[in-house]
Amino acid sequence: MRVLVVEDDPGIADLMVRGLERAGYDTAAAASGQQALLASPDPDVVLLDLGLPDMDGVEVCRALRERSDMAIIVVTARGEEGDRVAALDEGADDYLVKPFGLAELLARIRAVLRRVRPADREVLHHGDLTVDLRTRTVTVGGREVALTPKEFDILEALAVDPGRVVTRQEILERAWDTHWYGPTKVLDVHVAGLRRKLDRPGLVETVYGRGFRLGTPDPQAAPPDAP
Ligand code: CA
Repeated sequence: MRVLVVEDDPGIADLMVRGLERAGYDTAAAASGQQALLASPDPDVVLLDLGLPDMDGVEVCRALRERSDMAIIVVTARGEEGDRVAALDEGADDYLVKPFGLAELLARIRAVLRRVRPADREVLHHGDLTVDLRTRTVTVGGREVALTPKEFDILEALAVDPGRVVTRQEILERAWDTHWYGPTKVLDVHVAGLRRKLDRPGLVETVYGRGFRLGTPDPQAAPPDAP
């Protein structure tokens, strides 16, 4: 999934690019409207700042939309409401108002992609993890991981919205029964099995007292069986 960040403020552009790459997106940056229009191949998602030095961002939006059905998320400062509306009229899929957090940016991208390409919903991506909901197969770094049905259900509950804390109760209701009133220790046993098979320390994170979420594995972390 290729993302193009169109932003003339190098500090903001750098933060966005680094955050998106950590989240597993292949990311490029353009500092002007002209650069954005020259980007090749076409990105899947464009994050478009409207206040650009060389061109009106709304014009850039129109030109990109004429070219392909890429997802376009407009990024604006608070004072640019008129421009934001104009950009939506020119085919932008969503907008974000500065300042925004990385988690919100990633959630907006996922939401827009779900609308633009419903078929992609069947395969969830998080870093080098893929979860195929149709075939119920999971890969990590290209390696297929054989999970039990319960382990798959737990991973699915986390992977539909990576980064969000999913409570123990939510997972139990999803993977076991509508209402699970029994001991929740069984969940820990399956989570331990899931972690062992994924073999990515930090990927399935425990949020103490709340539940679990998908985290960003530390690339520096040695495999558990390394000396
Ligand atoms: Ca700007």
